Amino acid sequence: MSSLPKSLKNVSLFLERLPGIGERSANRMAFYLLRLPDADLKAFSEQLAHLKERTKRCKICMNLAESDICSICSDATRDKKRITVVEDVLDLLSMETGNIYNGVYHVLHGRIDPLNHIGPDDIFLSQLFDRLKEVEEVILATNPDMEGEATAMYIRNKLSEVKEATSLTFTVTRLGYGMPMGGNLEYADYMTLRKALENRRDFK
Ligand SMILES: [Zn+2]
Repeated sequence: MSSLPKSLKNVSLFLERLPGIGERSANRMAFYLLRLPDADLKAFSEQLAHLKERTKRCKICMNLAESDICSICSDATRDKKRITVVEDVLDLLSMETGNIYNGVYHVLHGRIDPLNHIGPDDIFLSQLFDRLKEVEEVILATNPDMEGEATAMYIRNKLSEVKEATSLTFTVTRLGYGMPMGGNLEYADYMTLRKALENRRDFK
């Protein structure tokens, strides 16, 4: 496909950088974009051009939002006494499917991963510790794989220290069985997630 016009090839090369997209799919998508009505393509490129500046992190939970506070944190019907800690926004979206959970979240945007030089200070942990005042339960919903478990254990230990040093009385739980080991929240169906949520346990 090296005979593609350069501008089309350039678009295709960008698309090829997306997760799970190979050269053939990228070429197919580039052709699709070329066939779009001008107005649609303009609207799409406008959205792309402003994607970064329009997307911020919620000041409370670090979820992505267009305003300072995300739609979940600003929803008065959500139970603010329950915080579920997730690795990233895609995990939050999975938890939001099927109305299985009415609490709020804390998005770490990563997990502790020493092999890749990601330590506790590289994820949004201190912001979680600032939110504990009125909280009754912290649900650790990092993924059930090695790094996710290590991250959950680190947070649990830190939360114990906070409890010892203050008069706060929140409990710490971890999602229970239901999630396959080595599984990923992002790909779990909501029934599996509901089970895991129901079976969450004290994390000691
Ligand atoms: Zn928020």
